[in-house]
Amino acid sequence: MFNFTSLKIVAKVADLSKYTKELSNLFSTSGNILLISHINPDGDAIGSQLALYHFLKAQGRNVSMITPNFLQEFLKWMPGADQIEIYIAGRKNCRKLIEQAELIIMVDFNQSNRLGEAEKFVIASHARKVLIDHHLEPSVFTDLIISDTTKSSTAELVHGLICGINGGPFLSRPYSEAVYVGIITDTGNFEYGSYTSETLRIVADLFDVGVDKDRILDLIYNNYSPDRIKLQGYALSNRMVVMPEYKTAYISLSRDDLKEYKHVKGDTEGFVNVPLTIKVIFFSVLFIEKDGFIKLSFRSKGKFRSNEFAAQYFYGGGHQNASGGEYPDTLENTVGYFLKVLKENLWRFGDAE
Ligand code: 5GP
Ligand code: MN
Repeated sequence: MFNFTSLKIVAKVADLSKYTKELSNLFSTSGNILLISHINPDGDAIGSQLALYHFLKAQGRNVSMITPNFLQEFLKWMPGADQIEIYIAGRKNCRKLIEQAELIIMVDFNQSNRLGEAEKFVIASHARKVLIDHHLEPSVFTDLIISDTTKSSTAELVHGLICGINGGPFLSRPYSEAVYVGIITDTGNFEYGSYTSETLRIVADLFDVGVDKDRILDLIYNNYSPDRIKLQGYALSNRMVVMPEYKTAYISLSRDDLKEYKHVKGDTEGFVNVPLTIKVIFFSVLFIEKDGFIKLSFRSKGKFRSNEFAAQYFYGGGHQNASGGEYPDTLENTVGYFLKVLKENLWRFGDAE
Protein backbone atom coordinates (compact mmCIF):
# COMPACT_ATOMS: atom_id res chain seq x y z
CA MET A 1 0.00 0.00 0.00
CA PHE A 2 0.97 3.63 -0.14
CA ASN A 3 3.58 4.86 2.21
CA PHE A 4 2.41 8.43 2.18
CA THR A 5 1.10 9.76 5.41
CA SER A 6 2.94 13.02 5.88
CA LEU A 7 0.94 16.22 5.89
CA LYS A 8 2.43 19.39 4.59
CA ILE A 9 0.92 22.83 4.83
CA VAL A 10 2.64 25.73 3.21
CA ALA A 11 1.59 29.35 3.50
CA LYS A 12 3.99 30.48 0.85
CA VAL A 13 5.99 28.11 -1.26
CA ALA A 14 9.33 29.92 -1.05
CA ASP A 15 11.18 27.00 -2.54
CA LEU A 16 9.08 24.95 -4.92
CA SER A 17 11.73 22.31 -5.53
CA LYS A 18 10.74 20.14 -2.56
CA TYR A 19 7.14 20.04 -3.75
CA THR A 20 7.96 19.51 -7.39
CA LYS A 21 10.02 16.48 -6.40
CA GLU A 22 7.21 15.10 -4.27
CA LEU A 23 4.63 15.74 -6.99
CA SER A 24 6.89 14.34 -9.67
CA ASN A 25 7.25 11.11 -7.65
CA LEU A 26 3.50 10.90 -7.24
CA PHE A 27 2.98 11.38 -10.98
CA SER A 28 5.45 8.68 -11.93
CA THR A 29 4.25 6.12 -9.39
CA SER A 30 0.49 6.47 -10.00
CA GLY A 31 -1.48 4.62 -12.62
CA ASN A 32 -4.81 6.41 -12.95
CA ILE A 33 -4.59 10.10 -12.16
CA LEU A 34 -7.79 12.06 -11.52
CA LEU A 35 -7.96 15.87 -11.57
CA ILE A 36 -10.90 17.57 -9.83
CA SER A 37 -11.94 21.22 -9.78
CA HIS A 38 -14.49 22.87 -7.47
CA ILE A 39 -18.24 23.41 -7.66
CA ASN A 40 -19.20 26.29 -10.00
CA PRO A 41 -15.69 26.25 -11.44
CA ASP A 42 -14.24 29.56 -12.58
CA GLY A 43 -11.56 30.08 -15.23
CA ASP A 44 -8.77 29.46 -12.75
CA ALA A 45 -10.22 26.14 -11.59
CA ILE A 46 -10.68 24.87 -15.16
CA GLY A 47 -7.45 26.48 -16.39
CA SER A 48 -5.43 24.78 -13.62
CA GLN A 49 -7.17 21.46 -14.22
CA LEU A 50 -6.55 21.59 -17.98
CA ALA A 51 -2.93 22.76 -17.60
CA LEU A 52 -2.21 19.69 -15.45
CA TYR A 53 -4.15 17.52 -17.89
CA HIS A 54 -2.19 18.63 -20.95
CA PHE A 55 1.14 18.25 -19.18
CA LEU A 56 0.33 14.79 -17.85
CA LYS A 57 -1.08 13.64 -21.19
CA ALA A 58 2.12 14.78 -22.91
CA GLN A 59 3.99 12.61 -20.39
CA GLY A 60 1.91 9.64 -21.47
CA ARG A 61 0.00 9.45 -18.19
CA ASN A 62 -3.48 8.06 -17.80
CA VAL A 63 -5.52 11.11 -16.75
CA SER A 64 -9.20 11.87 -16.29
CA MET A 65 -11.03 14.96 -15.07
CA ILE A 66 -14.16 15.66 -13.04
CA THR A 67 -15.90 18.88 -12.11
CA PRO A 68 -18.76 18.69 -9.61
CA ASN A 69 -21.71 20.44 -11.25
CA PHE A 70 -21.30 22.32 -14.52
CA LEU A 71 -19.04 24.02 -17.00
CA GLN A 72 -19.66 27.65 -17.87
CA GLU A 73 -20.27 28.46 -21.55
CA PHE A 74 -17.29 30.80 -21.78
CA LEU A 75 -14.89 28.00 -20.84
CA LYS A 76 -16.23 25.29 -23.15
CA TRP A 77 -13.96 26.29 -26.08
CA MET A 78 -10.83 25.42 -24.11
CA PRO A 79 -8.86 22.49 -25.57
CA GLY A 80 -9.60 19.44 -23.42
CA ALA A 81 -12.72 20.94 -21.79
CA ASP A 82 -14.83 18.30 -23.57
CA GLN A 83 -12.92 15.65 -21.62
CA ILE A 84 -14.11 16.99 -18.25
CA GLU A 85 -16.81 14.77 -16.76
CA ILE A 86 -19.56 16.57 -14.89
CA TYR A 87 -20.32 14.67 -11.70
CA ILE A 88 -24.04 15.35 -11.46
CA ALA A 89 -24.50 14.51 -15.15
CA GLY A 90 -22.75 11.15 -14.89
CA ARG A 91 -22.61 10.00 -11.31
CA LYS A 92 -21.94 6.34 -12.03
CA ASN A 93 -19.03 6.93 -14.34
CA CYS A 94 -17.55 9.61 -12.07
CA ARG A 95 -17.75 7.35 -9.03
CA LYS A 96 -15.89 4.72 -11.05
CA LEU A 97 -13.19 7.25 -11.94
CA ILE A 98 -12.85 8.17 -8.25
CA GLU A 99 -12.69 4.51 -7.19
CA GLN A 100 -10.11 3.63 -9.82
CA ALA A 101 -7.88 6.63 -9.19
CA GLU A 102 -4.52 6.07 -7.54
CA LEU A 103 -3.80 9.78 -7.34
CA ILE A 104 -6.39 12.54 -7.01
CA ILE A 105 -5.29 16.13 -7.52
CA MET A 106 -7.72 18.85 -6.49
CA VAL A 107 -7.25 22.41 -7.65
CA ASP A 108 -8.31 25.93 -6.67
CA PHE A 109 -10.28 25.34 -3.48
CA ASN A 110 -9.51 24.66 0.14
CA GLN A 111 -12.54 22.99 1.72
CA SER A 112 -13.78 19.53 0.83
CA ASN A 113 -17.43 20.67 0.65
CA ARG A 114 -16.50 22.49 -2.58
CA LEU A 115 -16.50 19.00 -4.15
CA GLY A 116 -20.30 18.96 -3.95
CA GLU A 117 -21.85 15.50 -4.21
CA ALA A 118 -18.46 13.98 -5.04
CA GLU A 119 -17.11 14.90 -1.59
CA LYS A 120 -17.93 11.71 0.27
CA PHE A 121 -16.58 9.47 -2.48
CA VAL A 122 -13.33 11.43 -2.75
CA ILE A 123 -12.88 11.37 1.03
CA ALA A 124 -13.53 7.59 1.09
CA SER A 125 -11.15 6.90 -1.79
CA HIS A 126 -7.87 5.14 -1.05
CA ALA A 127 -6.05 7.22 -3.66
CA ARG A 128 -3.23 9.50 -2.60
CA LYS A 129 -4.63 13.01 -2.57
CA VAL A 130 -3.06 16.36 -3.28
CA LEU A 131 -4.48 19.87 -3.03
CA ILE A 132 -2.97 22.67 -5.12
CA ASP A 133 -4.44 26.04 -4.20
CA HIS A 134 -3.91 29.72 -3.45
CA HIS A 135 -6.78 30.49 -1.04
CA LEU A 136 -6.12 31.42 2.57
CA GLU A 137 -6.20 28.81 5.33
CA PRO A 138 -6.60 25.49 3.56
CA SER A 139 -8.32 22.83 5.60
CA VAL A 140 -6.67 19.44 5.85
CA PHE A 141 -8.38 16.75 3.77
CA THR A 142 -5.54 15.60 1.50
CA ASP A 143 -2.19 13.89 2.06
CA LEU A 144 -0.26 16.75 0.55
CA ILE A 145 -1.20 20.42 0.45
CA ILE A 146 0.62 22.75 -1.89
CA SER A 147 -0.80 26.14 -1.02
CA ASP A 148 0.72 29.49 -1.92
CA THR A 149 -1.55 32.39 -1.06
CA THR A 150 0.81 34.89 -2.69
CA LYS A 151 0.10 33.56 -6.18
CA SER A 152 -2.29 35.39 -8.51
CA SER A 153 -4.02 32.16 -9.36
CA THR A 154 -3.81 28.41 -8.90
CA ALA A 155 -2.81 28.29 -12.57
CA GLU A 156 0.32 30.34 -11.80
CA LEU A 157 1.20 27.93 -8.98
CA VAL A 158 0.56 24.89 -11.21
CA HIS A 159 2.81 26.44 -13.86
CA GLY A 160 5.64 26.87 -11.33
CA LEU A 161 5.30 23.25 -10.25
CA ILE A 162 5.20 21.94 -13.81
CA CYS A 163 8.28 23.99 -14.82
CA GLY A 164 10.05 22.34 -11.90
CA ILE A 165 8.92 18.82 -12.79
CA ASN A 166 9.69 19.38 -16.45
CA GLY A 167 13.14 20.82 -15.75
CA GLY A 168 12.18 23.99 -17.62
CA PRO A 169 9.09 25.58 -19.15
CA PHE A 170 6.54 23.24 -20.66
CA LEU A 171 4.68 25.41 -23.11
CA SER A 172 2.50 23.45 -25.51
CA ARG A 173 -0.28 25.57 -26.99
CA PRO A 174 -3.25 24.01 -25.13
CA TYR A 175 -1.28 24.04 -21.88
CA SER A 176 -0.27 27.68 -22.31
CA GLU A 177 -3.83 28.74 -23.09
CA ALA A 178 -5.04 26.98 -19.95
CA VAL A 179 -2.49 28.76 -17.74
CA TYR A 180 -3.33 32.08 -19.40
CA VAL A 181 -7.07 31.65 -18.83
CA GLY A 182 -6.41 30.87 -15.15
CA ILE A 183 -4.31 34.01 -14.72
CA ILE A 184 -6.59 36.44 -16.56
CA THR A 185 -9.81 35.23 -14.95
CA ASP A 186 -8.44 35.42 -11.40
CA THR A 187 -6.94 38.88 -11.97
CA GLY A 188 -9.92 40.30 -13.93
CA ASN A 189 -7.59 40.58 -16.92
CA PHE A 190 -4.94 42.25 -14.73
CA GLU A 191 -7.36 44.69 -13.15
CA TYR A 192 -7.23 43.31 -9.61
CA GLY A 193 -5.85 40.43 -7.62
CA SER A 194 -2.40 39.77 -6.39
CA TYR A 195 -0.44 39.50 -9.59
CA THR A 196 3.26 40.25 -9.53
CA SER A 197 6.21 40.83 -11.82
CA GLU A 198 6.62 37.04 -11.82
CA THR A 199 3.05 36.63 -13.13
CA LEU A 200 3.88 39.00 -15.98
CA ARG A 201 7.11 37.12 -16.77
CA ILE A 202 5.05 33.94 -17.10
CA VAL A 203 2.57 35.78 -19.32
CA ALA A 204 5.48 36.98 -21.48
CA ASP A 205 6.57 33.34 -21.93
CA LEU A 206 3.00 32.40 -22.85
CA PHE A 207 2.86 35.16 -25.48
CA ASP A 208 6.20 33.99 -26.88
CA VAL A 209 4.77 30.56 -27.64
CA GLY A 210 1.82 32.04 -29.45
CA VAL A 211 -1.00 32.50 -26.93
CA ASP A 212 -3.37 34.84 -28.76
CA LYS A 213 -4.48 37.31 -26.08
CA ASP A 214 -7.06 39.08 -28.27
CA ARG A 215 -8.75 35.86 -29.29
CA ILE A 216 -8.85 34.60 -25.71
CA LEU A 217 -10.12 37.95 -24.43
CA ASP A 218 -12.98 37.70 -26.93
CA LEU A 219 -13.77 34.10 -25.99
CA ILE A 220 -13.74 34.79 -22.25
CA TYR A 221 -15.24 38.27 -21.96
CA ASN A 222 -17.07 39.29 -25.14
CA ASN A 223 -19.62 36.54 -25.23
CA TYR A 224 -22.61 37.83 -23.30
CA SER A 225 -26.22 37.34 -24.32
CA PRO A 226 -28.38 40.47 -24.81
CA ASP A 227 -30.43 39.40 -21.75
CA ARG A 228 -27.33 39.31 -19.57
CA ILE A 229 -26.35 42.86 -20.54
CA LYS A 230 -29.93 44.06 -19.93
CA LEU A 231 -29.95 42.38 -16.52
CA GLN A 232 -26.72 44.16 -15.65
CA GLY A 233 -28.21 47.49 -16.75
CA TYR A 234 -31.29 46.84 -14.64
CA ALA A 235 -29.22 45.72 -11.63
CA LEU A 236 -27.11 48.86 -11.72
CA SER A 237 -29.89 51.38 -12.33
CA ASN A 238 -32.70 49.83 -10.25
CA ARG A 239 -31.13 47.53 -7.70
CA MET A 240 -27.90 49.19 -6.64
CA VAL A 241 -27.67 51.14 -3.39
CA VAL A 242 -24.64 53.37 -2.82
CA MET A 243 -23.73 54.37 0.73
CA PRO A 244 -20.78 56.78 0.47
CA GLU A 245 -20.78 57.27 4.26
CA TYR A 246 -19.85 53.59 4.61
CA LYS A 247 -17.78 53.49 1.40
CA THR A 248 -20.01 50.56 0.49
CA ALA A 249 -22.41 49.74 -2.34
CA TYR A 250 -24.62 46.72 -2.81
CA ILE A 251 -26.83 45.16 -5.46
CA SER A 252 -29.68 42.80 -4.61
CA LEU A 253 -31.49 40.66 -7.17
CA SER A 254 -34.63 38.68 -6.45
CA ARG A 255 -35.72 35.52 -8.22
CA ASP A 256 -38.37 37.56 -10.04
CA ASP A 257 -35.72 40.00 -11.30
CA LEU A 258 -33.68 37.10 -12.62
CA LYS A 259 -36.71 35.47 -14.22
CA GLU A 260 -37.73 38.65 -15.98
CA TYR A 261 -34.35 38.83 -17.68
CA LYS A 262 -34.30 35.10 -18.56
CA HIS A 263 -31.31 34.60 -16.32
CA VAL A 264 -29.10 31.60 -16.99
CA LYS A 265 -26.38 30.34 -14.66
CA GLY A 266 -23.33 32.58 -14.76
CA ASP A 267 -25.15 35.72 -15.95
CA THR A 268 -24.53 37.66 -12.72
CA GLU A 269 -20.80 36.89 -12.82
CA GLY A 270 -18.88 40.15 -12.62
CA PHE A 271 -21.77 42.35 -11.41
CA VAL A 272 -20.20 42.67 -7.97
CA ASN A 273 -17.05 44.25 -9.38
CA VAL A 274 -18.85 47.20 -10.95
CA PRO A 275 -19.66 49.24 -7.79
CA LEU A 276 -15.96 49.23 -6.89
CA THR A 277 -15.38 51.50 -9.88
CA ILE A 278 -17.34 54.25 -8.07
CA LYS A 279 -15.01 56.77 -6.45
CA VAL A 280 -14.78 56.26 -2.63
CA ILE A 281 -16.40 52.81 -2.67
CA PHE A 282 -14.10 50.11 -1.27
CA PHE A 283 -16.64 47.41 -0.37
CA SER A 284 -19.16 45.93 -2.78
CA VAL A 285 -21.75 43.24 -2.15
CA LEU A 286 -24.06 41.28 -4.43
CA PHE A 287 -27.12 39.49 -3.02
CA ILE A 288 -28.75 36.83 -5.18
CA GLU A 289 -31.95 35.18 -4.07
CA LYS A 290 -31.67 31.38 -4.39
CA ASP A 291 -34.04 28.60 -3.43
CA GLY A 292 -34.40 29.05 0.35
CA PHE A 293 -31.27 31.10 0.95
CA ILE A 294 -29.36 34.15 -0.26
CA LYS A 295 -25.98 33.85 -1.96
CA LEU A 296 -23.61 36.75 -1.28
CA SER A 297 -20.53 37.87 -3.18
CA PHE A 298 -18.10 40.35 -1.67
CA ARG A 299 -15.41 42.43 -3.32
CA SER A 300 -13.14 44.96 -1.65
CA LYS A 301 -10.20 47.20 -2.31
CA GLY A 302 -6.86 47.35 -0.54
CA LYS A 303 -6.65 46.16 3.03
CA PHE A 304 -10.36 45.68 3.70
CA ARG A 305 -10.72 42.03 4.74
CA SER A 306 -13.95 41.03 2.99
CA ASN A 307 -13.23 37.34 3.65
CA GLU A 308 -13.25 37.90 7.41
CA PHE A 309 -16.50 39.82 7.12
CA ALA A 310 -17.94 36.93 5.07
CA ALA A 311 -16.73 34.35 7.59
CA GLN A 312 -18.01 36.25 10.61
CA TYR A 313 -21.51 37.07 9.42
CA PHE A 314 -22.32 34.95 6.38
CA TYR A 315 -20.87 31.44 6.87
CA GLY A 316 -18.37 32.15 4.11
CA GLY A 317 -14.79 33.04 3.30
CA GLY A 318 -12.42 33.43 0.38
CA HIS A 319 -9.72 35.93 -0.51
CA GLN A 320 -9.19 39.29 1.20
CA ASN A 321 -10.60 41.18 -1.79
CA ALA A 322 -12.94 38.56 -3.26
CA SER A 323 -15.06 36.36 -1.07
CA GLY A 324 -18.54 35.00 -0.64
CA GLY A 325 -21.02 33.47 1.72
CA GLU A 326 -24.69 32.68 2.18
CA TYR A 327 -27.55 33.38 4.56
CA PRO A 328 -30.66 31.29 5.21
CA ASP A 329 -33.35 33.99 5.11
CA THR A 330 -35.39 36.10 2.70
CA LEU A 331 -33.73 38.70 0.50
CA GLU A 332 -35.24 41.54 2.48
CA ASN A 333 -34.17 40.16 5.86
CA THR A 334 -30.70 39.33 4.62
CA VAL A 335 -30.16 42.86 3.32
CA GLY A 336 -31.50 44.20 6.63
CA TYR A 337 -29.15 41.99 8.63
CA PHE A 338 -26.25 42.97 6.36
CA LEU A 339 -26.94 46.68 6.89
CA LYS A 340 -27.06 46.19 10.64
CA VAL A 341 -23.76 44.30 10.90
CA LEU A 342 -22.14 46.59 8.35
CA LYS A 343 -23.01 49.76 10.22
CA GLU A 344 -21.87 48.36 13.54
CA ASN A 345 -18.72 46.58 12.42
CA LEU A 346 -17.44 47.87 9.08
CA TRP A 347 -14.36 49.59 10.50
CA ARG A 348 -13.16 46.47 12.28
CA PHE A 349 -12.23 44.87 8.96
CA GLY A 350 -9.74 47.42 7.74
CA ASP A 351 -9.71 50.28 5.28
CA ALA A 352 -8.80 50.53 1.63
CA GLU A 353 -5.36 51.89 2.54
P1 5GP B 1 -17.69 34.66 -6.18
O1 5GP B 1 -18.14 35.95 -5.60
O2 5GP B 1 -16.97 34.86 -7.49
O3 5GP B 1 -18.76 33.63 -6.23
O4 5GP B 1 -16.61 34.06 -5.18
C1 5GP B 1 -15.40 34.71 -4.95
C2 5GP B 1 -14.53 33.87 -4.05
O5 5GP B 1 -15.14 33.81 -2.77
C3 5GP B 1 -14.40 32.42 -4.47
O6 5GP B 1 -13.26 32.25 -5.26
C4 5GP B 1 -14.28 31.67 -3.17
O7 5GP B 1 -12.92 31.71 -2.76
C5 5GP B 1 -15.03 32.54 -2.19
N1 5GP B 1 -16.39 32.07 -1.87
C6 5GP B 1 -17.53 32.33 -2.54
N2 5GP B 1 -18.59 31.81 -1.92
C7 5GP B 1 -18.12 31.20 -0.80
C8 5GP B 1 -18.73 30.49 0.28
O8 5GP B 1 -19.95 30.32 0.35
N3 5GP B 1 -17.90 30.01 1.23
C9 5GP B 1 -16.54 30.21 1.20
N4 5GP B 1 -15.80 29.71 2.20
N5 5GP B 1 -15.94 30.89 0.21
C10 5GP B 1 -16.71 31.38 -0.77
MN1 MN C 1 -8.25 30.78 -8.14
